[in-house]
Amino acid sequence: MSIFIRKLRPSLSGLLRSKPAVPTPVAPPPTARRYYHAPCTRRSHDALQSSGRGVLFRPNPVLGRRPPPSQLAIPRYYSYRRKRSSADEAARTVMAVVMLVGGVVITIRDGTIETVPYTNRHHLVVISSEEERNLGEAQFARLKKELGKKVLPTSHSDTIRVTGISTKIISAARRGLGSDDNDKLLDEAIWSSNAAQKKKKKKPRKVWGAQPMTKHLDELKWEVIVVDDKPVNAMCLPGGKIVVYTGLLHHFNTDAEIATVLGHEIAHVIARHIAETFTKNMWTAILRALMTIDTDDSKMVNDLTEYVLTLPFSRKMEIEADHIGILLLAAAGFDPRIAPGFYEKLGKISGNTSVLEQYKNTHPSSEKRSRLLAEPKVMEKAMALYREARARIEETE
Ligand SMILES: [Zn+2]
Repeated sequence: MSIFIRKLRPSLSGLLRSKPAVPTPVAPPPTARRYYHAPCTRRSHDALQSSGRGVLFRPNPVLGRRPPPSQLAIPRYYSYRRKRSSADEAARTVMAVVMLVGGVVITIRDGTIETVPYTNRHHLVVISSEEERNLGEAQFARLKKELGKKVLPTSHSDTIRVTGISTKIISAARRGLGSDDNDKLLDEAIWSSNAAQKKKKKKPRKVWGAQPMTKHLDELKWEVIVVDDKPVNAMCLPGGKIVVYTGLLHHFNTDAEIATVLGHEIAHVIARHIAETFTKNMWTAILRALMTIDTDDSKMVNDLTEYVLTLPFSRKMEIEADHIGILLLAAAGFDPRIAPGFYEKLGKISGNTSVLEQYKNTHPSSEKRSRLLAEPKVMEKAMALYREARARIEETE
């Protein structure tokens, strides 16, 4: 048997060495475009060569064994794309046109250009304050139901404390908005990171609806709940519904720090940021639909519109809320000089969690927030309000 195998070995080796039949290349389907993706790195190339399992690049007698890095780094893409039928194209066009017309109709019929109290910024909103309030109240009812027993009773010391601080800030907001404290506190330049370098100041434009929008605050029924849970978080929903987590209270011990958070959250409601976001998202959806008519790469369009339309605006609103917040904090009798340090501390506390990553994507950096609040123009105004508030408090004590 072994002799038989030995005799056969040369012919078997010859068979193994002989070239296999070259398969006929298959032509791609006529309606599809093809791209190839074969990520190739120096490491995988070396690994393959050293293992002797394959040679991706033949050694070059002039340049040496290793191919130029440019060859190693060339990515190739592989995907099939279905060719759109004309019926598909027509349906997409019709849908986009309907959305565009709908958006224009809603904007003309319900849209209002309002002026944000304290900052005098103009923004477009397409939902009424009543609709916004209803949204907030419905969301608050749902949240309370979900949280169940985690909501601390109104007699709990944490709830009493947070309610007391909130009351001071809300009263300050009412006082401020009732007086002539609506001068332009925050000009266009402050939104920009290099605000200090900008010398030219734009003349304020006259816009319809130039009176600061404050009516919506009269209809609010303020309510505070404290949730016994870990998140370092707080929010104020439209309708005046304040939610604070004990995680926040554990990290920030002083009333002034808690007032900084509450001032910021209440500022979102004062500025009607939910209504503005709703309007912006409606138009984002319409623009996305319009942009995808002529392009196949919808992910690219989504990413682009997300970046161009969504993020810068939400950061702008956060900065605005910080600004209004520090004024409320000061007018309520809390030292505003604590606010810049608060945001620095918040940035350090959050750590490297996915929640923080999400937070970072929608918020300006802690350093930027802290720097903007520490600007002399902002701090001087806040300190003036603080001194007034302290004098009033000392008078009544
Ligand atoms: Zn915010």
